[in-house]
Amino acid sequence: MTRRRVALVTGGAKGIGKAITEKLAVAGFSVAINYNTSEQAAFDLVAKLQSRGVNALAVKADVSDFNAVKRMYDECRAYFGFVDTLVNNAGISLIKPLYECTEADFDRVIAVDLKSVFNTCRIFTPDMTSEGFGRIVNVSSVWGEYGGSTETLYSAAKAGVIGFTKALNAELARGGVIVNSVSPGFINTSMNAELCEADVAAFLESVSVGRVGSPEEVAEAVEFLTRENLYVAGANLSVNGGIL
Ligand code: NAP
Repeated sequence: MTRRRVALVTGGAKGIGKAITEKLAVAGFSVAINYNTSEQAAFDLVAKLQSRGVNALAVKADVSDFNAVKRMYDECRAYFGFVDTLVNNAGISLIKPLYECTEADFDRVIAVDLKSVFNTCRIFTPDMTSEGFGRIVNVSSVWGEYGGSTETLYSAAKAGVIGFTKALNAELARGGVIVNSVSPGFINTSMNAELCEADVAAFLESVSVGRVGSPEEVAEAVEFLTRENLYVAGANLSVNGGIL
């Protein structure tokens, strides 16, 4: 790492986000850990990283709320001076047949999983463009690529994230701000806690390596896409064990 780096990881206190935060900290980043409800987990992670000499800050914001993201930006700027790396990891899932989905379900899933990416990118990228350097990694999903039965709203939001990523990269990459996405498959986190063993086994039938993935395996891919020397741009990296 030749320059000082500061990353904001949304939903960075638990699950995949926590693994990303820890991976980036090991890589030499200072880290802003966004949380919405997991306050204790965020503060515990800050304490753990600080004990290792990492410059870390916990920042609360509902990323679906534009003004809350603006306040988070102000906090990060005041504490670190700048943020050159944005990992849009925060997300919610919704497993429900379409005929049961309400308008409120649609609004919520699109707001948290897609509008959040607009909010953070809209607010954080002008500084990156001014500096001529930035890295953005958006966390999509295997369902954004393939479409998941009974996950229509989630799949639509995550497909939107992939389109947003490609378009924003086309707009910003010549100015040094590179945007990519990762699309995890079945990863062992609380997001999948509701699934029964039969559901998991059925999904694994279509995974070539025949096992679920770990948050750390997603974090490896994200860390790669934050590197200074990067010839991968506007890409969507599938981290799904190989869908058959
Ligand atoms: P998780 O353990 O349920 O964590 C979700 C994270 O998102 C939490 O840190 C949560 O923060 C944050 N979050 C949710 N709503 C938020 C909001 N309105 N504002 C700010 N933060 C919010 O799930 P995960 O598996 O780690 O998922 C992380 C990402 O990977 C998501 O985008 C998910 O769609 C994607 N993904 C996961 C899988 C999988 O199999 N697990 C597969 C494909 C894609 P708080 O706890 O602080 O509220």
